[in-house]
Amino acid sequence: YIRKMAPSDGILIWKKIMMSTLSKSFGLHKIVKQHYLSLAKGAECQVTYIWIDKAGENLLGKTRTLEMEPAGIRDVPEWSASWPDEKITEVVLVPVRMFRDPFTLDPNKLVLCEVLDGNYAPTGSNQRSQCVKVMEKVKDFQTWFGMEQEYMLLGLDGKPFGWPSQGLRLTRASCTVGINNMLGRDISISHYRACLYAGINICGSNPEAWPFQWEFQVGPCEGIEVGDHVWMARYILHRVCEDFGVVASLDATPIEEKKHTSGCHTNFSTKEMRSKGGLQYIEEAIRRLSKRHSQHLRVYDPHGGADNMIRLTNQSTTSSFQSFSTATASRKVSVRIPDHVSRSGCGYLEDRRPAANCDPYSVMRALAETCLLGAAE
Ligand code: ADP
Ligand code: MN
Ligand code: MN
Ligand code: MN
Ligand code: MN
Repeated sequence: YIRKMAPSDGILIWKKIMMSTLSKSFGLHKIVKQHYLSLAKGAECQVTYIWIDKAGENLLGKTRTLEMEPAGIRDVPEWSASWPDEKITEVVLVPVRMFRDPFTLDPNKLVLCEVLDGNYAPTGSNQRSQCVKVMEKVKDFQTWFGMEQEYMLLGLDGKPFGWPSQGLRLTRASCTVGINNMLGRDISISHYRACLYAGINICGSNPEAWPFQWEFQVGPCEGIEVGDHVWMARYILHRVCEDFGVVASLDATPIEEKKHTSGCHTNFSTKEMRSKGGLQYIEEAIRRLSKRHSQHLRVYDPHGGADNMIRLTNQSTTSSFQSFSTATASRKVSVRIPDHVSRSGCGYLEDRRPAANCDPYSVMRALAETCLLGAAE
């Protein structure tokens, strides 16, 4: 076969070899890894500490050995990390929630941490600390949250996964089947199972509007929990994508064509909203939300609204960045009452404004403050 080749084919073959070497380093050596993971070890436990970076948008992680499996979060000691500022200072990692490690398996753990400075004060990107306080204040409302995390799959070149062959379907359509319609189902399936193993309250997944876009849902959870679970589900997504050699982007508009947008719809309810006649409480909450549209958009992405200014103005199916809107069963609005909620007269509301890269803690806090604590206009 090689003898029949034209000289110029050599370059092509070389390119193919390079590509396959590259894909092996992403993919096939994972089989070799199984050998090392099967090596006997003692009672030690590998604990991966995971925390939110200085920008409040990305996750960081590092692993240490504990002598024994921690029975609970209190058994996981604080740790420290260097923080990228002028002096590269040290910060404290305070473990707040523990999950099973779906990558190296039991008894190993993934541990979400809050970041505190040397004086034990929350750092600027630590939105959880304040959110916990607000959740404590509204405890009697028994608030539930559920989040729909959309993401897009990209190649290392920043182009949509499968580019250019994925460009077959040019119109929005979610929940499709067939590789002429969507790509990357392996990632969604693997991520879902890894989340279940870890102990994340993941409640669903679906192919989203574009062939390279997916969604998973977390919740409902009471109080602070959904924020912790969404952040850890994001971490697991990035790890799963490492194994498949693909990048998961949570950017609101990751590719040049700005009509491709990702959000993180946030569903919210109180005990009153969920009980018979709850619709009136949902409507009252929406009235309050309508008066604080701009305040919410400022914290619904990590750039003070700049991401949503692009996302919401380029979206054919959602609301406007400029003004608040609401409706029952319609999706072209800021806040929606799901059809089944209006029919049964109780349930929850859906805030469609948070961007895919939002900090769940900031969104949860804003919802609680506006709807339940009477935050001023
Ligand atoms: P959509 O029709 O908007 O695509 P999904 O099925 O994707 O809705 O997501 C529904 C979300 O609502 C899930 O995250 C789920 O956890 C959440 N949810 C369901 N019931 C409640 C509730 N009572 N309070 C808050 N969130 C809820
Ligand atoms: Mn070092
Ligand atoms: Mn959804
Ligand atoms: Mn969606
Ligand atoms: Mn939704």
